[in-house]
Amino acid sequence: MPRKIRAVFFDLDNTLVDFLRFKRMCLEGSVEAMIDAGLKIEKDEALRKLYELYEKYGMEYKHIFDDFLRETMGEPDPKILAAAIVAYRQRRISFLEPYPHVIPTLLELMRKGIKLGIITDAPKLKAWLRLCTLKLHHFFKIVVTLDDTGKRKPSPEPFLLGIELAGVKPRECLYVGDREEIDIFGAKKVGMLTCFAKYGGAEYKETVVSDYVIEDFEELLEIIK
Ligand SMILES: [Mg+2]
Repeated sequence: MPRKIRAVFFDLDNTLVDFLRFKRMCLEGSVEAMIDAGLKIEKDEALRKLYELYEKYGMEYKHIFDDFLRETMGEPDPKILAAAIVAYRQRRISFLEPYPHVIPTLLELMRKGIKLGIITDAPKLKAWLRLCTLKLHHFFKIVVTLDDTGKRKPSPEPFLLGIELAGVKPRECLYVGDREEIDIFGAKKVGMLTCFAKYGGAEYKETVVSDYVIEDFEELLEIIK
């Protein structure tokens, strides 16, 4: 007997939004702008260094261009730093988009009376900035961020808070995410049904332990009939 799904929770980055592509576009724009402003470096070399910094400090690191320029040229030239920041901001607005079929699928899920939520490891303001830029902020009444529990997935706390806020039972929830060890294992541990977002670009193994696997966002409508 199939379980009745009353709430669907989503991971944000690489599940609703193609964050890696977005980051790449922003960084490429910044590197081109820094070279244009006078920085002497090959584009590929600059990108490699920037990704190393993100690897070291996390993808939300705020001082990426200061650190990068300090490493590359000593004291950062303010003109070059400003060029990087402006290019990044301009691209941030234009390139942050939901994956195909996200909006019509969310609308249809809402029409069916399904509660929609986000459970993300992003900090609270970053998560809302991303949702507002994507124009997805009206869809989600429940948004659980790193600041709400202080714990990252796959810890149970963020999942349990989402379930509590939705006022449903764990087994009535579906969690959709792109990383098996973080999203799928975490949601499974608290008793949620799980859906692996294969389109998110994480390395997919045939052995992925998820109740469902989707290659396109709209396949959710086949799971939640
Ligand atoms: Mg993700």
